[in-house]
Amino acid sequence: MPVLTRSAELFEKAKKFIPGGVNSPVRAFKSVGGTPIYMAKGQGAYMTDVDGNTYLDYVGSWGPFILGSMHPRLTAAIEYTLRNIGTSFGTPIEIEIEIAELLCQIVPSLEMVRMVNSGTEATMSAVRLARGYTGKDKIIKFEGCYHGHGDSFLIKAGSGVLTLGDPDSPGVTKGTANDTLNATYNDIESVKVLVNENKGQVAAIIIEPVAGNTGVIPAKKEFLQALRELCDQEGIVLIFDEVMCGFRVALGGAQELYGVTPDLTTMGKIIGGGLPVGAFGGKRHIMENIAPLGSVYQAGTLSGNPLALTAGLETLKILMEENPYPELERKAAFLEAGFKANMDKLGLNYTQNRVGSMACLFFTENEVYDYQSAITADTAKYGKYFHSMLDQGIYLAPSQFEAMFTSFVHTDEDLEKTVAANYNALVAAHQ
Ligand SMILES: *Cc1c(COP(=O)(O)O)cnc(C)c1O
Repeated sequence: MPVLTRSAELFEKAKKFIPGGVNSPVRAFKSVGGTPIYMAKGQGAYMTDVDGNTYLDYVGSWGPFILGSMHPRLTAAIEYTLRNIGTSFGTPIEIEIEIAELLCQIVPSLEMVRMVNSGTEATMSAVRLARGYTGKDKIIKFEGCYHGHGDSFLIKAGSGVLTLGDPDSPGVTKGTANDTLNATYNDIESVKVLVNENKGQVAAIIIEPVAGNTGVIPAKKEFLQALRELCDQEGIVLIFDEVMCGFRVALGGAQELYGVTPDLTTMGKIIGGGLPVGAFGGKRHIMENIAPLGSVYQAGTLSGNPLALTAGLETLKILMEENPYPELERKAAFLEAGFKANMDKLGLNYTQNRVGSMACLFFTENEVYDYQSAITADTAKYGKYFHSMLDQGIYLAPSQFEAMFTSFVHTDEDLEKTVAANYNALVAAHQ
């Protein structure tokens, strides 16, 4: 059992000055209990906390660390930019063109791209653009999909009522909520109903093409294809939110994996290489509506920041040169098979969903294909499982409804250790 004295002290102090002690809610360990752990240093697939305990990391800064923490090429590139270029200009710089060109090569649907500073900014801007471009107000999202904390996205359907949204958070106005319609993931009929009830009023459909914020839920290919057709028929902008799955499930993201092309794509996480970056892009005739070319306003003081773009660009170059995807698949499949074998030994039959190196062990025996099936998972059992893994030096997301990310730098030894710990943690979850 790791001693967490210093973490506990820091958390007490943090709570005086930072709401809930954290700068992003899920870090507070609310859904698993206990106190958050203050990290002091990251290296590869490992993190060391302020009490000197070391953990094997499967959170990877919530997605960015496909190459682990402090990849030597990445740190060298950031250091070079810091010493020789600068931290910010607020003028155009050459590296912006380099990353935009590369992104357009890598991601199938991109013809033009704009850089922002977070995934939230990317999705907010993409939706504004879709509204400006179509002249329509409403958007359709899917229950359980997360698109950052923009007002339009903090809405889910009331119990069984799909048409009118209720805000999920105080501070989101009724007006905003009414423009966000919620459909059911992997259920094209639920989308068609909304489109028909709101004929000519829907600007965009936004979806995580591999959902990663309700655990991991893959979209069915036919479902994405049907969305594409529906959007074409109705003049609706199809937005793939690939902030998490982009550059993760394949170099070109879920759109490459599924062969379905959206009109707009939002990106983040991996393209920042651990620094704050987001981006949105897509078809030229839509992107040309953004200021200064068009009238849809979008801006950012630090957008295209040299340090952040250096980290992103270097990450993309490494991904292109080293093609880690077959290895990521092998490693994540090893974990899945190991967990399955453990469950077989223990007479358990929990559901595992996985797309490449995005995985989730749901504490339910039900098949998980949408939000309602996901929330049948036993979160109390997950809490026990999480703490047992933590005690064994394995750092998982402090919530049942998050992805487990395997990185390129997890070694076979790390994976074996994880499978062994999983057995103990499954036992602990049932005590
Ligand atoms: C993380 C995430 C966001 C939000 O990105 P931030 O950088 O946290 O603002 C949006 N969409 C998806 C799918 C995400 O996973």
